[in-house]
This record gives sequence, structure tokens and C-alpha cells, in this order.
Amino acid sequence: MSTHDTDDRTGTFGDYGGQYVPEVLMPAVEELTDAYERYVLDNEAGFVDDFRDRIREFGGRPTPLSYAANLSERYGTEVYLKREDLLHGGAHKLNNALGQVLLAKYMGKDRIVAETGAGQHGTATAMACAYLDMPCEIYMGRTDVNRQRPNVFRMRLHDAEVNPVTVGSGTLKEAINETMRDWATNVEDTHYVIGSIVGPHPFPSMVRDFQAIISEEMREQARDQIGRLPEAVVACAGGGSNTMGAFGAFVGSASLPGHPEGSHEPAPDVDLLAVEAGGSSLGVDADEGYAPNSASLSTGTEGVLHGARTKLLQTDEGQIVESHSVSAGLDYAGVGPELAHLVDEGRVEPVNVDDDAALEAFHRLSREEGIIPALETSHAVAYLEHYDGDGPVVVNVSGRGDKDLDTVVEESAAKDIDGAPSMEVFEE
Ligand SMILES: *Cc1c(COP(=O)(O)O)cnc(C)c1O
Repeated sequence: MSTHDTDDRTGTFGDYGGQYVPEVLMPAVEELTDAYERYVLDNEAGFVDDFRDRIREFGGRPTPLSYAANLSERYGTEVYLKREDLLHGGAHKLNNALGQVLLAKYMGKDRIVAETGAGQHGTATAMACAYLDMPCEIYMGRTDVNRQRPNVFRMRLHDAEVNPVTVGSGTLKEAINETMRDWATNVEDTHYVIGSIVGPHPFPSMVRDFQAIISEEMREQARDQIGRLPEAVVACAGGGSNTMGAFGAFVGSASLPGHPEGSHEPAPDVDLLAVEAGGSSLGVDADEGYAPNSASLSTGTEGVLHGARTKLLQTDEGQIVESHSVSAGLDYAGVGPELAHLVDEGRVEPVNVDDDAALEAFHRLSREEGIIPALETSHAVAYLEHYDGDGPVVVNVSGRGDKDLDTVVEESAAKDIDGAPSMEVFEE
């Protein structure tokens, strides 16, 4: 069934994955594993059919595969864009949030908790909860609450409670710990919706399966519109959920029942490129406990973070360091265990582009194709500058960039980014 050494029933990907959680969380993780196997892998009670219907009706799937004529001309190769920016909510995150909130309903849970960093996952979860009539609490670091106010309002508009977390640096890491604590205390009635292909088993496999609808559609669309599979698929990698969504059907590891025939067959000839945030430079400054990048796939070392063994940005002593990226959604010191394994196996090639290249790509796609991409997505678009294959190449447009306008205007002016338009306005 799968080309690589993975086991969806134990959640191991070579040396990575597993369930590194405190004893109090074991019952929750085991109950969820059982539900994942029954409802997702075996489509019990028609769960997957229900998910497919709802992500179509409420989410607006399938998202288009758009031919990018101007980029194709620029690079002398056929470029296609998989438009997850057109999914409801403006990013791929709803695929997973809707899947998990629906699963929680099938499990008889009546309360949802989730963590959020930049607020995108919290917003998608709050949206899914409003739609499915589930009470929802979101943990968000105090610092993030202050710098992501529009997303805090969006979550509240969807009737979610936003709990600011004041400990530590008040960012994603602390929010994850608080959410784990809540889950452990309220296992009976609560489900924890993790936002990427990270965390203990079954999260990495389950989130990949919900997101793999992206590559499943991409294959069907490539066959109809191009007449063949693409030579390469390019996606940005933070935790890695849009990446495994874009790669899953080609790797053959995803297992979402009810897919069109052949759409999950391993396709070893398709090159899979994961683009990480190179930030301002590569490497880890161990003395400062800081990495000026989020390139854990290309430069990380093995360790355990948030319940799974994976590749991490850490010091020689195993201290996790603060990461950096101009894009909040890529700013994470770890990465999904399956992606780490696929890189070790040579199936996925990790590459990285820096902050400035991502900003330039943000402007290029806006100017030349009429699509304002998320700053995360801009990393994948920026990689086209280095792509030297024959094509066709598909870039996964994981989300739209409206949320990033303030950052882009500020950073583009400060760094004198190539191709940035003037943002001066006339005042009376
Ligand atoms: C959250 C986010 C990402 C990064 O998360 P992954 O799990 O790596 O996909 C990428 N793009 C967009 C638009 C996002 O919102």
C-alpha cells in the first residue's frame, strides 16, 4: 500500500513519530487512535463520506488547479497553481479542522480545544465548530493575541472563547502546553484539534489523511488538464500539513477511503520539494538559544517535541531553540515526523528560501498572476527561481495573503524589497 516504511496503526515513520506523552494523556491518545482507525481508515458509519460531502459543500472543494501563464513564460516551463487560497477561510487549514471537529462529533465529544500561533488554525477550528455546533476554546500566547488581533476577533465572531496564555514568551510553544493540559484534564468530553502533521500518533497520520484531499484532486486535475502527472510538486513546510497534503497521494501513504481509482497509487517519478523558511540565515546560535530560520528539515537534528520523535532545531544539549521566519505560520522549531522520514529516505527534497526571497515572490505573484499569496506560500513560489526541471511544475498555494499585508508593507519598505510597489498614500 505504501512505498515507505510507515505504519498507520502504530504511527511510526522509520525512526520518527510515536507517542511520547505523559501517562495522564495515554487514555486520550489511545481513544483517539481507536477512533482514527474505525472512522477514518475504515470509514465506519460513513464518516469519510460525510467528511467529503461537507468539505465540498461548506469548504468549496474541489479547489482549482490554475495555469499560471505569466510565470510559465517567465520561467520557460509550465507552472500550475493548486488553489488552496480559495478554500473557505483562505487556506488549507479547514481540511484538517473540519475533519477533526467532525470526528469529535462521531466520537460523542461535546467540547473542542485547540492551540494557535498566528491564529490561522484557531480561526479554521472556530469556523468548523460554529458550522458543526460545537463549543470551542482556543489557547493563544499573550504575545500572539496582541499581534494577531484580527484573528482573535474572527474566532470570537465564530463564538469561540480565546484564552490568552501568559507564561514564558507567550507564543505557540506555551499555547500547545496549555492545550495539552486542558485535554488531559477533560479527556472524557473534549477533543484536542492539533493544527499540523505534528504531535503524538495518530495526529500526524490523521491530519495527513484529511489534507491529502489536496493531492488527490491535484492528480485528477493534472490528468484532465495536462494529460499527465506533473514532473514536480512544490509546497512550503512549517509543521508540514499542506506539504503532506500536496504530497500524500503521490507518496501513497495517505489513506482516505472513497478516492477516485488510482489517485493514491505511489508515483515515484514525481519530484516532491518541501520549501522551508531560511529566515535571515541558516544554522543555530546555541549560545543565544536562537535559530534565525525555521529550516528543521534541512538542518535539524533528531529529538522529541510535542509528543513525537522528529527533526528539530536544538542545541547539542537538546535544548529546543527559538526559531524565526518572516512568516508566522512557518515559524516552528520542529516538523512532522513523516516528512522528516521522507527526507531521510530521499523521497522528499528539502530546500529553503530566505525572508527576502519570500517577500519578492509575494510581490511577483501579486503583480504577475493577480494572486496575493500568504507569506508562507510565498516561500514555495520563490523556489521557482531555482527550479531547473522540465516541468510541468505544480506549486501548492497553501493560502491567501490578506492576513499578511501589514507585515509585507512594513518589511518591504524596511528592506527595500525588489518589485515592491510604493505604499505611500496621499493625505489631505
Ligand atoms: C499554517 C499555514 C502554513 C504552515 O503550516 P503547515 O502545517 O506547514 O502547512 C502554510 N501556509 C499557510 C497559508 C498557513 O496558514
